[in-house]
Amino acid sequence: MSIIAKNSELHRQMVAWRHHLHKHPELSFNEKMTSDYIASILQSHDIEIHRGLAVTGIVATVHGQREGSVIGLRADMDALPIQELNDFSYKSVHDGKMHACGHDGHSTMLLGAAIYLKENNDFSGTVHFIFQPAEEGGGGGRVMVEEGIFDKFPCQAVYGMHNFPGIAEGQFAVHSKAVMAANETLIINIQGKGGHAAMPDQCIDPVVVGAQIISALQSVVARNVAPLNSAVISITMVNAGFASNVVPDEMQLTGSLRYFIKEVGDEVKDKIKNIVEGVSHSMGASATFESVPNYPATINTPRHAEICANAAAMVVGNNNVLRNEQPTMGSEDFAFLLNALEGAYIWIGNGLVPEDGPKGGCMLHNTQYDFNDEILPIGASYWVQLAQHILQ
Ligand SMILES: [Zn+2]
Ligand SMILES: [Zn+2]
Repeated sequence: MSIIAKNSELHRQMVAWRHHLHKHPELSFNEKMTSDYIASILQSHDIEIHRGLAVTGIVATVHGQREGSVIGLRADMDALPIQELNDFSYKSVHDGKMHACGHDGHSTMLLGAAIYLKENNDFSGTVHFIFQPAEEGGGGGRVMVEEGIFDKFPCQAVYGMHNFPGIAEGQFAVHSKAVMAANETLIINIQGKGGHAAMPDQCIDPVVVGAQIISALQSVVARNVAPLNSAVISITMVNAGFASNVVPDEMQLTGSLRYFIKEVGDEVKDKIKNIVEGVSHSMGASATFESVPNYPATINTPRHAEICANAAAMVVGNNNVLRNEQPTMGSEDFAFLLNALEGAYIWIGNGLVPEDGPKGGCMLHNTQYDFNDEILPIGASYWVQLAQHILQ
C-alpha cells in the first residue's frame, strides 16, 4: 500500500518541488540554490537540519517518539552538463545543465518522506535524511564519508535509491549483493620518436604501438578473467598527432575499467600493465600505465537488501519487486557510503518505453529524459515503509 497516496496534497507538493528543482539544475558541488531550496522546505516543517557537509550537503534528522536504532536514507542532488531538449513548462533555465539522471526526483522523494515521518513519528529511533552533492563523477559520497558523516551522525545502516528507466512504473528492483561496478580511469602514455611521415624507418611510431596495444587489450577480459566473473575495458579516447605528414612523438590512450571484485580488478590491471610495457618495448617505444580509481563497486549487504525488498513489497506488492535483476557495469558513488556502513541500494522503476516515444522509459543521461512524477509517492512511501519497518 502506498502510504502517500497518488494525487494527495503531499504528492501535489512533491510535483511542484520536483519541477522547481528540474528547472534550476546545478552541477556537482555547486548545488547552492538546490541546497537552499531543500533546506527551506525542511525548515518550514520544523525539521532539524545540518548544512555544509561536502560543501552543499544537508543532513536532516527526524526522531521517533521512542529511543531506538538510527538509519540513514540518502538522495543525490546534482545535475549534468547536458543541454535539455525537452519542451515543457519546467524545462531547465540553466543553459547547458540538466537534471538528466532524475536526482531532482530523488531529492523530492526524500523530502516527501522526511515531512511525512516528521508528522507521523510513531516509531522508535531516528532517521537521518542525507541530501548528497556531486554524485555525477564528483564523488560527493566519498567527501561526505571522509568528512566523517557517520561520526557526526552515527547510523546502523544506510540506504539509497535510484530511478531506472526500462523498469515499469510501480515496480522496484533489488539486488541481494552486487548492484553496480567499480569504475577506474585508464591512462596509457606511449613515448615514441616522431619524424617525417615519408621516412618511418627513422621514427618510432607511437600510433602503431597504440593500435597494437588497443588490439591486445581485447584479450584481457576474454582470456584472463574467469568466465563467470565480470570486467570491462573500454578505450574511449585516443590522442596523437597534429599534421598528416608528421609522425608524432607520443600518443595517449584513455579509457574506462569496470569490475565488481577487487581481486579481478587487480588482476586485470596487472595484465594491462604487462601488455602496455611488453608491446611498447617490443616495438622500441616506452610507455607508462596508470589506473585512477573513481568509484568502488556498489555491493549490498544481503540482509539489508532483503529488508528493502520487503519494504518495497509493502508499497507495490510482492509481484512488483524484481529480486533477481542483473547488476550493471555502470557505477554509483553510494558505493562509498556502503563501504563505510552496512545497507542497500535499490532501483525504482521510472517507466517502460511507450509506443509513442520516450517518456519514463527514456534512458538516464539523455537530452529527453525526465523523472516520472507518478512515482514520487511510490518512492516516498517506500522510504517511509523502510523507516517504519526497521524502526518499529
Ligand atoms: Zn547519472
Ligand atoms: Zn544518477
